[in-house]
Amino acid sequence: MNFTEFNLDQRLLEGIEAIGYETPTPIQEMVIPVILKGNDLIGSAQTGTGKTAAFLLPLINKIISEEQDNDIKALIIVPTRELAVQIEQHLEGIAYFARVGSISVYGGGDGLAFSREQMALSQGTEIVICTPGRMISHLNMGNVSISELKYLVLDEADRMLDMGFYDDIMKIISFLPKERQTLLFSATMPTKIRQIARKILINPVEINIALSKPPEKIKQEAYIVYNSQKIPLVSYILSERKLRSVIVFCSTKQGVKDLTRELKRARFSVSEIHSDLEQHERENVLLNFKNRTLNILVATDILSRGIDIEDIDLVINYDVPNDGEDYVHRIGRTARAENDGLAMTLVCEKEQSKFSEIEELLGNEVPKMEVPERFGKTPEYNPKKNKQTDSHRSFGKSGSGNKRNFRRK
Ligand code: AMP
Repeated sequence: MNFTEFNLDQRLLEGIEAIGYETPTPIQEMVIPVILKGNDLIGSAQTGTGKTAAFLLPLINKIISEEQDNDIKALIIVPTRELAVQIEQHLEGIAYFARVGSISVYGGGDGLAFSREQMALSQGTEIVICTPGRMISHLNMGNVSISELKYLVLDEADRMLDMGFYDDIMKIISFLPKERQTLLFSATMPTKIRQIARKILINPVEINIALSKPPEKIKQEAYIVYNSQKIPLVSYILSERKLRSVIVFCSTKQGVKDLTRELKRARFSVSEIHSDLEQHERENVLLNFKNRTLNILVATDILSRGIDIEDIDLVINYDVPNDGEDYVHRIGRTARAENDGLAMTLVCEKEQSKFSEIEELLGNEVPKMEVPERFGKTPEYNPKKNKQTDSHRSFGKSGSGNKRNFRRK
């Protein structure tokens, strides 16, 4: 399928081309026509499936084809400011030529950020992306009118409930007109989400993009450790097993560099691969790894998708991947073709809740392995206790100008 088949505005097609999307992802194929038609929608989809563009494209298309005034047309409620920023950046790319106004408002930041949001909201814009608590503050202070709103999106609804935002969400909805189009996205569909859906959606179309499960022949193991125990444990695992082909995944380039340095110091046959390397350097490293001149490859997620390397003995997740899809892709590097594979994940305290979310998505618990006594005491696995809330998560930029207002001329 091609993006032109959706009959989207030419300016959006130019935006899509500029950001380099060639064909729609499966969720985009299913969701875009439903939203364009005006139906309410309940979508079960994880991050990584292209769901953001799946709702942004039809919404922007509708907004730019409607009457232009200063009223807020669409509200996108998300659990974290990290996600709010991400969606706004996505929107900027897609809507670059369509010139749709947007503002994101989220918790944290300083008083200055709040007054900036306050001013931007009172001036009006077309799309507002918000975290629940912050939006309530603005609504309570009368900074914003959403009585003319036409489109409401709840993104990562299950996570918002986990974070205790149910009352805030229902309060925001109480300010909205009853006649509107509502879209709800959630990675999982627990009963509570179904109850909310029944309250706020009208005859929704239901769309399911199931998460691909890892092949059953991959043996999965998890080690619950403190962060400081990770490097010694990886060294131990690698020296105990004398494997010929191991990939260790880290979530950041710096993580890859630090771990590679330590493993080199311990005289392992190891190299790193990440986006800072030139293409020819990457190819060289991959070639050496494929022909077994090199036994251990430390990599970011650039290696987790699509690259077909046969016969990997072991995949180690040095960091817990950000979502289930990445986990499946990473561990899928092992057990290719006829081979059985082994995948180990090292989980430190602050990653416990993320890991339990992955387990929940996969629908099974990964066995927790005993860490040898020589590593000392290890933390207990208690993801609920170690769960971080919105306000405790640390994000990149805080309080930096979070208003982007591309007004149409
Ligand atoms: P999301 O699930 O919305 O977080 O999107 C995951 C990633 O896929 C983002 O980096 C998007 O920029 C990218 N993406 C979304 N749609 C497409 C597409 N049709 N083609 C290529 N990449 C896409």
